[in-house]
Amino acid sequence: MDIVFDCPHCEQELAVDSSGAGSEIECPSCQESIQIPPQSKKTKAAAVPAETHSPSPIPSAINSSAAARVEKHLKVPVRSTPGEPLILKPQPPLQAVARGAGRQILSHTIRRATCVESGHDKFDEVVSKFLNEVGEPNIIATHSVSYTHLDISSQKLLNDYGLLVIYRG
Ligand SMILES: [Zn+2]
Repeated sequence: MDIVFDCPHCEQELAVDSSGAGSEIECPSCQESIQIPPQSKKTKAAAVPAETHSPSPIPSAINSSAAARVEKHLKVPVRSTPGEPLILKPQPPLQAVARGAGRQILSHTIRRATCVESGHDKFDEVVSKFLNEVGEPNIIATHSVSYTHLDISSQKLLNDYGLLVIYRG
């Protein structure tokens, strides 16, 4: 014989074996701590139908209200240690695994001087190539940089510019 009662917190109908009368359990629906009443506070026939999400294909005047209800049957085990939770809460999903796992934030500096090949400035070409390889969604930021370098042919210090790209890869 089952004890049928509503969770006082979320009104989920619960049915437990009468051997669990008086036990404290965790509601499987709302996780609140509830006490099983000593006897049924209601009968299944008198139950008020809950919101029906999927009505039975062949409605019957006699059992439609009872059949439509979502009933959660609880097994009440014999406790070996007091206070042991009867229903284990599901572990929260590991958010870290879901997105961006194993990807690092990296930086890459392109100096204009290194992009000059036999007199031809290929800075824009090199930058475009790199940005396209990284892909737009992975580019976090770009910063212009200026620096001084020793020009080998003239043996002079020259000012030059470049681009610092912060990206995910
Ligand atoms: Zn509840």
